[in-house]
Amino acid sequence: MKFEDQRKAMVKCHLLARGVASKKVIEAFLKVPRELFVPRQIRHLSYNDSPLSIGEGQTISQPYIVALMMDLIDIQSSDKILEIGTGSGYQTALLAEIAKEVYTVERIPVLLNRAKNLLNEMEYENIFYKIGDGTKGWENGIPTCLEFNKIIVAAAAPDIPESLINQLAMDGKMVIPTGNRAFQNLIVIDKTSEGTIHTNHGGCAFVPLIGEEGWYDS
Ligand code: SAM
Repeated sequence: MKFEDQRKAMVKCHLLARGVASKKVIEAFLKVPRELFVPRQIRHLSYNDSPLSIGEGQTISQPYIVALMMDLIDIQSSDKILEIGTGSGYQTALLAEIAKEVYTVERIPVLLNRAKNLLNEMEYENIFYKIGDGTKGWENGIPTCLEFNKIIVAAAAPDIPESLINQLAMDGKMVIPTGNRAFQNLIVIDKTSEGTIHTNHGGCAFVPLIGEEGWYDS
């Protein structure tokens, strides 16, 4: 089957059938070719609903979980989004299809540079990149941006990093897997004038978020 047909089948069987509701999210998944973000030797697996190795001990996340996280934070076309854990850049492209601007942080330079080259080739002009510790958010990033409407964390944290809460705009939403190194819950945080509201959206398993407000590097 052609990649385009595999992409349509993945969206139908793994996203729509499992309740991903946002039209914008579905359209983005139909548009962005996942095979471009997967290493050549395993490209035939691109439309399996599973994480895949991208080298450096990291993964491109499972499509359903990416769609669920995007759905949960209700992305709007006016949003400035902070993404922690660029990885392959696949989720970055999906976010950039919907949001006004995407600010993405990755701690492993080779991954960030590979993703940036690909996303530049694909002619995305609304993405800003930073190599560093994403537990500190967009601290000292260029261009300066002090707060974000949405924050999406694609690696597992022991606790919610305080720096990320501080960089979430009022009425903003953050999604972050939180738990131990092996198993986590997907937590959505709503920032309101009365404080933050945390909602649990079930179990998941991500690679660890390594950094000052995350896990130590083992
Ligand atoms: N969403 C990505 C994609 O579509 O390919 C997959 C992200 S992968 C599951 C998690 C990424 O988070 C890895 O690339 C890892 O290096 C990165 N990471 C871990 N700790 C980080 C930190 N403190 N700051 C930035 N990136 C971090």
